[in-house]
Amino acid sequence: MNKSQPPPPTLADKYSGVPSRLTLIAQTAKDQLYSHKTVPESSLRRHNVRLPPDTTQAAFDAALAALKKNLGKENVVLNDKPLVDGWYLEHPNTHDAFHLVDQEDLVSSAVAYPASTVEVQTIVKWANEYAIPIYPISMGRNVGYGGSAPRVPGSVVVDLGRRMNKILNIDAENASCVVEPGSVFGNAIDRGVGYTPMGDHFANHCGMEVVLPNGELLRTGMGALPGKNEVDNPTWQSFQPAYGPYSDGIFSQSNFGIVCQMGFFLMRETGHQSYMITFPRDEDFPEIVETIRPLAQKGILGNIPQLRHVAQELNVTGLPKSHWYAGSSPLPRQLIRQHASKLPCGDCSWIFYGTQYGNTASIETQLTIIKSAFSRIQGSKFFLPSDLPADHYIHSRALVCSGVPILRELDWLNWKPNAAHLFFSPITPTHASDAQVVHDINVHLHAKYGFDLFPTLCVSGREMHYITNIIYDRSSNDEKRRAAALMRELIVATASEGYGEYRTHLLFADQVARTYSWGNNALMRFNETIKDALDPNGILAPGRNGIWPKKYRGKGWELLGESVEKAVGGGTISPKL
Ligand SMILES: Cc1cc2nc3c(=O)[nH]c(=O)nc-3n(C[C@H](O)[C@H](O)[C@H](O)COP(=O)(O)OP(=O)(O)OC[C@H]3O[C@@H](n4cnc5c(N)ncnc54)[C@H](O)[C@@H]3O)c2cc1C
Repeated sequence: MNKSQPPPPTLADKYSGVPSRLTLIAQTAKDQLYSHKTVPESSLRRHNVRLPPDTTQAAFDAALAALKKNLGKENVVLNDKPLVDGWYLEHPNTHDAFHLVDQEDLVSSAVAYPASTVEVQTIVKWANEYAIPIYPISMGRNVGYGGSAPRVPGSVVVDLGRRMNKILNIDAENASCVVEPGSVFGNAIDRGVGYTPMGDHFANHCGMEVVLPNGELLRTGMGALPGKNEVDNPTWQSFQPAYGPYSDGIFSQSNFGIVCQMGFFLMRETGHQSYMITFPRDEDFPEIVETIRPLAQKGILGNIPQLRHVAQELNVTGLPKSHWYAGSSPLPRQLIRQHASKLPCGDCSWIFYGTQYGNTASIETQLTIIKSAFSRIQGSKFFLPSDLPADHYIHSRALVCSGVPILRELDWLNWKPNAAHLFFSPITPTHASDAQVVHDINVHLHAKYGFDLFPTLCVSGREMHYITNIIYDRSSNDEKRRAAALMRELIVATASEGYGEYRTHLLFADQVARTYSWGNNALMRFNETIKDALDPNGILAPGRNGIWPKKYRGKGWELLGESVEKAVGGGTISPKL
């Protein structure tokens, strides 16, 4: 490993810093990731500050001066310095750290740091006045899905995490809280997946405060009913839908508002027991899925468990691909087998990581049922954390699944030098034949484009998020082009079989959105109607999730077909206007 890197900032130093309990682990993770870095931390910018579309330098300068006057000049920062990719805990808010197209293409012009909902309203009104697109982020760590980058280059990023990061309320009796964006917020808004029983973060939110693109302020759910004596409504964090249309959903994965407060249900402290089950053959996959479904539907599986391919056991060791294989093609299946046979999991194909909750007696009963169900798959083996070495991945899963965030997941980014990744995340029914189709498409296309396949299925009773991380070397245009082509073909191939992504990288949002085309694109037309009504000037996150405001629509902004591949290595994602 290379020499030690400068220590990452702590939470006391920086809003996005490392909690003290993770200082040592973070230092090790950083050193390890940087030891595979062959490109400089930053290089001179080739272009000037990226201006918003249709904006002259003079107009931009005047607009920025006005914004600085409103927010204070220290809270509006021009994006004119060299771009630094950093790493997960020192991530940039200027561009996509995992750039697939040119580092300077998916980039902001400036970053604004509001301190309050009122200041967010000020920014929104300013954006309308000066016709400048803005792009809100919470922590901006959405790496693999676009990071903190705006979809329209030159937008002003509104970084809510730095100054709006308070826990506004914790109600222990109700087991709920209200928080500002500098928390798990962005993940919930992007409908991300977690691994506790409340792992569907968006489903466990309750109430929002939202600034609309016209600057108006809205409270959703019971929060719309004013509490007595001007306090917040006492049921705001108790009952999600309230009365009338349930509007919260339209503020997730969208560009219809900036969410400034969000309520969440909290989980009461309880006992927990993690475990792992290995299955010997690749062909066991259908039977595993069929076993999972009734267990999940009956509520016996405690959390959102993961079914991971054994290839993942190799990459979560944090060792680079070169440790396992001298070639550059995907690791041959036989070689994975050989290596796995020397790991604690043994020569297996699929690994199920689950966690059960409750008191000791109830956990024992649950585990008896689970063991009995999976034991029907010949050769399956059950492990508790105590059966496995101290450095085995299961111990980090046990922490995550009991609500203790850790950094172990970053280890698979050591797979390649300068590693970045794209997530491909289709939804499949929890049904063997469907899951097999999605898996086969992935096997075939990853091989075609020369990428190792690392599938993790996040499981629930009726559907599974089949998530693969396509890991590429940021210094290689060839790998980037192949990764983009792989994404394009995966999206098309799965959609033609009737399966769609739950979330995607900014650059593929148009392609994914277009697969949801039922009824002559009725859903997109509905979204566009809402967008145009709420945001007539098209200032809020144009293009996010494929939703373009009228001002941009049909003018060449949509990235379709091979546009992303073509933009790699010298092309651009912006239309020639
Ligand atoms: C190794 C690794 C493993 C990962 N594993 C997972 C995983 O298991 N599950 C998972 O879900 N993700 C995973 N991620 C992706 C990502 O890191 C997480 O989802 C992260 O929690 C995103 O949260 P954030 O607050 O930084 O989001 P942000 O980047 O702040 O927000 C995400 C997007 O939501 C929108 N948004 C954010 N805040 C607001 C707001 N206030 N109002 C309106 N719109 C807003 C923006 O469009 C923004 O781009 C992983 C990433 C890596 C590198």
